[in-house]
Amino acid sequence: MEKVVIIGSGCAGWTAALYTARANLSPLVLTGKHPGGLLTTTSIVENFPGFPEGVDGFELMTRMQKQAERFGARASFGLVEKVDFAKRPFTLRADGETVMAETVIIATGASHKHLGVPGENLLETKGVTYCATCDGALPCFRNQPLVVVGGGDSACEEATYLTRFGSIIHLVHRRDTLRASKIMAERTLENPKIKPVWDSAVTEVLDVKQDKVTAVKLKNLKTGAESVLNCAGVFVAIGHGPNTEIFKGQIETGENGYIIPKQGTMTNVPGVFVAGDCADHVYRQAITAAGAGCAAAIDAERFLAAQNQ
Ligand code: NAP
Repeated sequence: MEKVVIIGSGCAGWTAALYTARANLSPLVLTGKHPGGLLTTTSIVENFPGFPEGVDGFELMTRMQKQAERFGARASFGLVEKVDFAKRPFTLRADGETVMAETVIIATGASHKHLGVPGENLLETKGVTYCATCDGALPCFRNQPLVVVGGGDSACEEATYLTRFGSIIHLVHRRDTLRASKIMAERTLENPKIKPVWDSAVTEVLDVKQDKVTAVKLKNLKTGAESVLNCAGVFVAIGHGPNTEIFKGQIETGENGYIIPKQGTMTNVPGVFVAGDCADHVYRQAITAAGAGCAAAIDAERFLAAQNQ
């Protein structure tokens, strides 16, 4: 029987682990299929306090894990497939194993959104990708024209990173202004290797017949004009959706799938807490996720203390 099980190993998960470990609760962290979470797929994180020179996303997450483990947190590489929150102790199924828990902290984060256009799924890993840091250096992208889709911080970060490898980076955005923070937007638009393509949507990724990305079909959303833009890679960076599918019917979510905490970080199920991007469609920062992880840990600790009185 575990006192605290944390589902997810991003900033929220490892911070919750650090705090519950230091409260002697020996938390078990079920890492999910991407240990370290989304931050491991970014390059330099420049806005996490305490790192004036910036810090590599993977390194930051490795340090968070080490820090939590130092105080007794345990990691298990496992994907939770099913949960039963109908009665306590709660039951979780992870990679075929059953885990019983007195409290659970959900920190499952969010995943990349897909465009949903023809060719995208069939050409995934054949030129369509959702992570420049993971795939940008592949030989097929070197000295080739590349497309980044989106107008937020992620798209700007991806485009800037890809200037190291591609011959030119077309930043395709559906409006004529970037959503990204001012500093990121300015840096991106000043980069001579990045060419914005405004007011445009990708309507198809070509070419499924050749089994690799050769171009994208574009539609100008103001004029309706259609065109084809040659490229060897399509990097989709259009935001994220919460990883909350497995909690459907048990944990209350909003229409968009984000979990709605009821009291502090506690969900509608007493003993189940939530932290990070799976409950936050507003701030979505590493530091806010870490803060929420800390709050969830304190709430879980107090919940357990109250139960044992
Ligand atoms: P985001 O801020 O939600 O931006 C998503 C972008 O994709 C928007 O420009 C949006 O267009 C566009 N978009 C959404 N759906 C689309 C669709 N179906 N087709 C085409 N375009 C679509 O997401 P994000 O850039 O991933 O950032 C998420 C959060 O992480 C933000 O809070 C951001 O500040 C943070 N972040 C920070 C950093 C950093 O500071 N280093 C790096 C990455 C992310 P519209 O603008 O028209 O809505």
